[in-house]
Amino acid sequence: MELRRLTKEVAKDLKVLVRVDFNVPLKDGKVMDDTRIRAHLDTINLLRTFGCRIALISHLGRPKGEFHEDLSMKVIQKAVENVYEVPVRLVDTCTGEKVRSAMDKLSNDEILLLENVRFYSEEKKNDLQFAKEMASPFDIFVMDAFSASHRAHSSTNAIQKILPSYAGLLIDKEVRMLSNVSSDPEQPFVLILGGAKVSDKIGVIEHLMNKASAILIGGGMAYTFLQVTGKAIGRSLYEEDKAEFAGEMMKKADQMGVKIVLPVDTVVAEKLNSTSGQVVNVDSMPIDLMGLDIGPDTVTCFSEYISKARTILWNGPMGVFEEAPFASGTEKIGQAVVEATKGGAVSVVGGGDTAAAVKHFGLSGQVSHVSTGGGASLEFCEGKILPGIEPLLQE
Ligand code: ADP
Ligand code: MG
Repeated sequence: MELRRLTKEVAKDLKVLVRVDFNVPLKDGKVMDDTRIRAHLDTINLLRTFGCRIALISHLGRPKGEFHEDLSMKVIQKAVENVYEVPVRLVDTCTGEKVRSAMDKLSNDEILLLENVRFYSEEKKNDLQFAKEMASPFDIFVMDAFSASHRAHSSTNAIQKILPSYAGLLIDKEVRMLSNVSSDPEQPFVLILGGAKVSDKIGVIEHLMNKASAILIGGGMAYTFLQVTGKAIGRSLYEEDKAEFAGEMMKKADQMGVKIVLPVDTVVAEKLNSTSGQVVNVDSMPIDLMGLDIGPDTVTCFSEYISKARTILWNGPMGVFEEAPFASGTEKIGQAVVEATKGGAVSVVGGGDTAAAVKHFGLSGQVSHVSTGGGASLEFCEGKILPGIEPLLQE
């Protein structure tokens, strides 16, 4: 999948509108984590070397189509200045004369930040007229918000029908890394799945089943699979309406020679915030407890597959990693992925919570790629052509 590249030839000295994702976590009007701002740094710096005049547009929170003081881009202006090390000017709208005149006054050493695009109800309707008004002060559009690319909105999709559009460096890297693992992965390709629900991962299993050599299943979703194989899973997460799917997938995998590997032991406790857990074999789970992490034998078994992989895609934590007593499985699997990466495997982490887990354990820099797109990376791995990416595809 080749995206239209942003080069000096197409961008030199132009007025550029860049769709970024600055939907950062906020608390009491402060930015708690500037990872999402940092993620666009290379794209911004590239445009600066091209002598472009740059305006950035993003959503922030869920303002539901109307102005919301707390979600104004004013709140993140300083954080953007700190990360990009340039003065950031604000304009309190996304369209019209105000933007045009702010762009006319802007120097190459400054950046213009447009107001929260979701203050406008047209945005989520992918309204073409709104996109036209947004586009009007600019020469070209750069799409860099991978994590918003699964949404067909005016600032991700419709605008690309109006302005010549190019892929920013972040979205380009995301697409390259995710295509790498999901289209033609070097074998053995090991898919690690976890997280809360089977239903969230059905599309990924279906799409990648015929490409993986093994699918390791942990997290809450593992218990539905275990139940189907006849285990008593106590009060663990169970999706009755997905049991049939789980059974079919295991049958299909068997016919195709793909290994679906389930936990052999698990950490059980009374509730999600219990202060300790107990390791049991999956054949002897107490009826009144729930499985909240994979056990040490499962870690050993999964790590064995991971160590032999040439390509790894990991989506979904192995347990309730947010709670210390149930964090070990996710941390150890993270370490196994890091080891495999050191040995030359390509490893990609997708999913918002998995990315948070990898960061929490200080492993982010040691895997090949941590996707910035939660929902977007999942939909990409389901084989969907995303509406913010489709218009960037090379003819
Ligand atoms: P991602 O965002 O990476 O796709 P998910 O949203 O699917 O991941 O799942 C993450 C959530 O799954 C985490 O909040 C974690 O606490 C929860 N989880 C993992 N294992 C279990 C389990 N055994 N029981 C209940 N919840 C679990
Ligand atoms: Mg999640």
